[in-house]
Amino acid sequence: MTPETTAPSALVLFSGGQDSATCLAWALDRFERVETIGFSYGQRHAVEMTVRDPVRQGLAALNPRWAERLGADHVLPLDVLGRVSLSSLTADLPDTRRPDGLPATFVPGRNIVFLTFAAIVAFQRGLKHVVTGVCETDYSGYPDCRDDTVKALQVALNLGMEARLVLDTPLMWLDKAATWAMAEGLGGTALVNLLVAETHSCYQGNREIRHDWGFGCGACDACRLRAGGWQRYRS
Ligand code: ZN
Repeated sequence: MTPETTAPSALVLFSGGQDSATCLAWALDRFERVETIGFSYGQRHAVEMTVRDPVRQGLAALNPRWAERLGADHVLPLDVLGRVSLSSLTADLPDTRRPDGLPATFVPGRNIVFLTFAAIVAFQRGLKHVVTGVCETDYSGYPDCRDDTVKALQVALNLGMEARLVLDTPLMWLDKAATWAMAEGLGGTALVNLLVAETHSCYQGNREIRHDWGFGCGACDACRLRAGGWQRYRS
């Protein structure tokens, strides 16, 4: 992999969920060259990986400028993460709180590993910005989604690779209603409709039940946050 241009450019961590799809639209609106990266890490419900391509194609179809800017998609196998980092997302464990109070869905180290591999790919590809949809305002309580974690990691990665990468977190201080509103500002009702229909956030991998805010079980933390944000956004 080699750098292709020196234009303002970004690599977006893109899982196929609402937040990362909104970040992808945000990046396409700002940067001349945008690539995406996703990780296969042994998640039990791989449905989010299957919606990535339709969401990318949908975004390109919404806006010709976005279509020109959208570049390669990178999918990295990180199965080892799912083997060493036990969570109800990677193993058949009860969906109760962990003894330390963190949610059972917390995958220890996940965002640190993801951001590190994304930074390596960005460095190799000559992409200046790494964009991630983590948020500490209206979230499941994962400590690696916090602003301090991302800022500390940016320092460590730049020191360790003699780089000047910027880790962007456009959703960090937004609640889920504001995230829906941001999408509307970027791509109007057409983008909101695309996010509802195509993105996937449910921790249970449910794509059978369709709500007005999209597919999901309606009960897990991810569905609860997405549905609550939608209702506040629409009211
Ligand atoms: Zn759910």
